[in-house]
Amino acid sequence: MVREIELTKRQDRIIEIVKENGPITGEQIAERLNLTRATLRPDLSILTMSGYLDARPRVGYFYTGKSGNQLLTESLQKIFVKDYKSMPIVVKENVSVYDAICTMFLEDVGSLFVVDHNSLLVGVVSRKDLLRASIGNQELTSLPINIIMTRMPNITMCEMDDLLIDIAKILIDKQIDALPIVRSTDKGFEVIGRITKTNITKAFVALENE
Ligand code: ADP
Repeated sequence: MVREIELTKRQDRIIEIVKENGPITGEQIAERLNLTRATLRPDLSILTMSGYLDARPRVGYFYTGKSGNQLLTESLQKIFVKDYKSMPIVVKENVSVYDAICTMFLEDVGSLFVVDHNSLLVGVVSRKDLLRASIGNQELTSLPINIIMTRMPNITMCEMDDLLIDIAKILIDKQIDALPIVRSTDKGFEVIGRITKTNITKAFVALENE
């Protein structure tokens, strides 16, 4: 339950008081600010919930010593791929480029994962891969997807237990929009999910409500 929040002047002042005098009771903080304990209650609960202060029964409040950035970093270390994953949309490697385009529209996704007859990952096809194939003079209904896909072993993949922040860095580094989430087997990689820039944006927004 931590996040970077904009603190009010009064909350900043409370942090200063606790930093200098902690452990200190709510009553004592209130006295220093010439306010009642009841007035301070919401501020104190915001500051403890967001991790700036800690409270111990019968001891009082003390400063955790963590900056907003440190607290945000701690939250990011707790968000995993499995918390924000989507369903993978897969096509067989022998489907045509035409059919892949239809699947992309019908499923409303930007990347398709390509699998072989054993349902193991063999490639990835993006919107621009399909556009590129479409502007050539090719017959899209008879052009198989495995001719134009990015293929193994050049596929960047991830697992359910990977940290979302690490995936965000990989997407930026590699300039791609999506990663298949895979489970490793003796024969290859089974596709068990999908993680995209949209999932990461959702996680980012959710941080605000923590
Ligand atoms: P778009 O090409 O529509 O902008 P991407 O940026 O995701 O979409 O894809 C860029 C290129 O990288 C495409 O050629 C695509 O096949 C390839 N690609 C996409 N995702 C991956 C991945 N997870 N691993 C390897 N290559 C990928």
